[in-house]
Amino acid sequence: MEPLDHKPAEQATQQHTSLQMQLGTLASASIMMVDDEPIMIEVVRTFLNDVGFTEFLGITDPTQALFAIQTNRPDVLLLDLMMPGIDGFSLLKQIRADSQLKLLPVVVLTSASDAQTKLRVLELGATDFLEKPVDPSELALRVRNTLAFKAYSDRLAYFDSLTGLPNRSFFLNHLSMTVRRSARKNAGFAVMQINIDRFKQLNESLGHRTADAVLVAISQRLSACIRGTDSIGRLAEFSSGNTLSRVGGDEFTALLPEIKDSSHAAVVAKRVINAIARPFHIEGRELFISASIGISIYPADGSDAETILKHAEAALRESKRTGTNTIRFYSSSLNRESIEKLTLENQLHRAIERNEFRLFYQPKVDLRTLQIVGCEALIRWQHPERGLLSPNIFIPLAEQSHLIVDIGAWVIDQASSQIALWRSMGLRDMKVSVNVCSPHVMDGRLLKDLRSAIAKHAISPKSLMVELTESIFLGNVDEVNQALNNVAALGVDLSLDDFGTGFSSLAYLKRLPLKELKIDRSFVKGLPGDKDSAAIVSAVLALAHSLNLQVTAEGVELESQLQFLQKLGCNQFQGFLRSKPVPANEFVQLLA
Ligand code: C2E
Ligand code: MG
Ligand code: MG
Repeated sequence: MEPLDHKPAEQATQQHTSLQMQLGTLASASIMMVDDEPIMIEVVRTFLNDVGFTEFLGITDPTQALFAIQTNRPDVLLLDLMMPGIDGFSLLKQIRADSQLKLLPVVVLTSASDAQTKLRVLELGATDFLEKPVDPSELALRVRNTLAFKAYSDRLAYFDSLTGLPNRSFFLNHLSMTVRRSARKNAGFAVMQINIDRFKQLNESLGHRTADAVLVAISQRLSACIRGTDSIGRLAEFSSGNTLSRVGGDEFTALLPEIKDSSHAAVVAKRVINAIARPFHIEGRELFISASIGISIYPADGSDAETILKHAEAALRESKRTGTNTIRFYSSSLNRESIEKLTLENQLHRAIERNEFRLFYQPKVDLRTLQIVGCEALIRWQHPERGLLSPNIFIPLAEQSHLIVDIGAWVIDQASSQIALWRSMGLRDMKVSVNVCSPHVMDGRLLKDLRSAIAKHAISPKSLMVELTESIFLGNVDEVNQALNNVAALGVDLSLDDFGTGFSSLAYLKRLPLKELKIDRSFVKGLPGDKDSAAIVSAVLALAHSLNLQVTAEGVELESQLQFLQKLGCNQFQGFLRSKPVPANEFVQLLA
């Protein structure tokens, strides 16, 4: 029997050879043969060598075969049927039962030529069938065809058709192989997750076809700076050099082997950021694109593929959170943070049923009369251990799942019940604003929740107002319009919150059935001294009034800010100057 370590295992892996075949080098495919007759193996080896197949491994002990196949991962297996110890039928069954070997091409060689045997073998999942004594030309052709088909199916399975880059499956295989190899060599490597900033927006504004062209252009630039070359056909780079894969719509992953420390990875990452920052010229447009990067390093950030990947993804999330165009390394503090987040998220799921949410109310004041004309309901979480938590801590977590929609429904119901209670106490009519997230608007969910709360608490739709953020502009224009028109038709007024911080398209603004704009407090903060803030606030007021929208200024803390806004004709304000958000009973005292 031949020694099993006939060549390094990594060279024999499916991924590596599938790539060689993709490049038309079928001859370098690895072939394994299992037969108890050494002479048969020698005959076939010679035949195949003659026609150019040099990677050949023969196994004469069938009980060793499965292990040899698992470790060497041949591209094709030639299998004898009649063998002592374990026969070819059973071996074939074991191969097909192994998830990693399910698709391995197996050509059965046997002297039993009866129809029944052939049928049974094909039924067990043999790819092809060859009778002994083997005809050399037939053998070579069958092996070639089997390999060609495998190369084709590998291509489908391991490559992205748009960019031609390796895909997620390839990357995952390659990653586990790199972990094994690095462990043996005591070497380090880096995983770099690259995500294109605001690609969703780009996709929606330019259309899928153009967005595809952008992705192709991006992948070419990434290839150039990650693999250090523009040409695709450098074989060695796939097995030992840097690889770039496209693992999701706008997500790429680079695997950088033999990185000594984070500074090496940082050099490549900076190259990537700079390459993407150069303007793209696509279909006559000049586009400015940026990317965010998260990096984890083996073995410091994890000793197995799953952990390394998870940590690179965590670093990417952190990088996206802090802004566009940023590079972030994974660090254990980051890990602590994400564990904390995870705990909080789990507890958040039970907060509604455990009745841990509270609504606070902040007055909205008319700027001419200085009377309280309404209020905004702002959520708080009475956490069993951590006390009263601000929405800035848990709303972003809730937004990552459907939970945010459930929370929105709870807020609508709770605010409506408060409106009914205040009315029964004989308080004057007031509008109560609730904050709602963009996904809640879609599929008629918001409409349904509003309708049922209004009916349940027997309140007027006019006593509710819904605040939306500018992220609503990222949705499909027609669907958003339809959903908002339905809400407006119900009689509930709509307000655009945090105006000026997001994606507002002014042309689009006109088409939405809005009643109010809220100027974000970041603009109010600089008033009246800061010239830019003053200019922005004046412009927003002029625009809003020309569109017949009322304007509420957020975050008014100073008398001088109030006077400035009064002079410009702003309609209402909210802010600590009058009151911070307070529980319902305290709010009643403010009215007195
Ligand atoms: P927002 O809707 O823009 O609410 C205004 C925020 O500004 C509130 O923070 C309020 O307390 C704060 N604020 C008001 N006046 C002043 C002031 O004079 N100075 C300063 N520095 N701050 C002021 P809060 O309650 O922490 O809420 C933060 C954000 O959380 C809200 O911003 C809103 O986006 C979100 N949020 C709150 N409640 C809900 C909710 O029920 N559902 C959803 N989806 N989001 C909510
Ligand atoms: Mg709000
Ligand atoms: Mg706001």
